Amino acid sequence: MKFSEVIGHEQIKQKLISTVRAGRISHAQLLTGPEGSGKLPLAVAYAQYLNCRNRSETDSCGACPSCVKYEKLIHPDLHFMYPVNTNNEIKKDATIKDFIRQWRKKFLETSGYFSLNEWYSEIGIEKKQGVISAEDCNQMIRTLSLKAFEASYKVMVIWMAEKIFHSAAPKILKILEEPPDNTLFLLITESQDKIISTILSRTQLIRIPRIKDIDVLDHLINLKHINPGNAKSITAASNGNYLVARSLCELPEDADLDWKLFRQWMLHLYAGKMDEIASFTGQMAKTGREKQKQFLSISTHWIRKAFVSGYIQDELKGLSGEETDFVKRFGRFIVPENAGDVYHELNKAIFHVERNGNPNLIFLDLSLRLRSLLFNSKTKK
Ligand SMILES: [Zn+2]
Repeated sequence: MKFSEVIGHEQIKQKLISTVRAGRISHAQLLTGPEGSGKLPLAVAYAQYLNCRNRSETDSCGACPSCVKYEKLIHPDLHFMYPVNTNNEIKKDATIKDFIRQWRKKFLETSGYFSLNEWYSEIGIEKKQGVISAEDCNQMIRTLSLKAFEASYKVMVIWMAEKIFHSAAPKILKILEEPPDNTLFLLITESQDKIISTILSRTQLIRIPRIKDIDVLDHLINLKHINPGNAKSITAASNGNYLVARSLCELPEDADLDWKLFRQWMLHLYAGKMDEIASFTGQMAKTGREKQKQFLSISTHWIRKAFVSGYIQDELKGLSGEETDFVKRFGRFIVPENAGDVYHELNKAIFHVERNGNPNLIFLDLSLRLRSLLFNSKTKK
């Protein structure tokens, strides 16, 4: 992965590059930031740059023997740790090694942009929590005690370091305190507060913020070839989370139908007839998990549009008459007092759908909460 393939974060890239060029590399660094900000791609691009034999002032070459192996994640001196658990095939003592094939596949398919939940569904453990176990840490220590095969630097990327099991933490701590020669640890987390303080104090912190709107927009238009109007509203809805932006880009041909479905849902909630609400949630429950997630993403998109259009006239550009009409009417119900909670409820529902919750309950629960948040008389403008 080259730096040029990582979306945005130019300043951070420059900083990482300058440490390599100056030969001042801290042996343990913790990349911390929100979901969808690109911490993992950045870590891999950094490691690739560090080991590239023909690097330029701005990027790795992508073509030297080291880069070629890095691009496929098969370099013998590039190692990963990530949370795993037992699944239908591996019924006990699941280890990181058991899932390396899925790890490479997921990374290469998504250029390293994927969420913890997407990873859990890739390895078939949706209903469980993944962990990085003590046995995996022992294995890591054995691996790193070997000399580097080919590279100048051995690199260990620990993805979601907050999942390090408590009995494994002392092992990690020890190796961070007495690292083998020429070894770089890149820890990645979305919950810095869950990393034990002794590990924190041994790493250099690199904060990765949300991706800037302008960088998401540029990526959507120039690399994903989304038309500028759509790209703009997708960018705004994604709020610097590339995973959200990508899922909104992948709206199906019948997205138009989905917006009408969203409108129908809101009308049911407004009218407050329980039998209609129940029949709607029943219908949604029968569609597949992907469809449900997509519908919730589209709902988030329209709710955002309705909210923002009250403040920014440009939001209505590119909408059909019917859409503009709906957004204007519906926008009256989304106010600063309830917008945050409405978002939160939708995100929570997406989370539960991803974790294989009961779709009937998820949609019914969400419907009732949205009804109370949106159409409670206090919230009307
Ligand atoms: Zn290279």
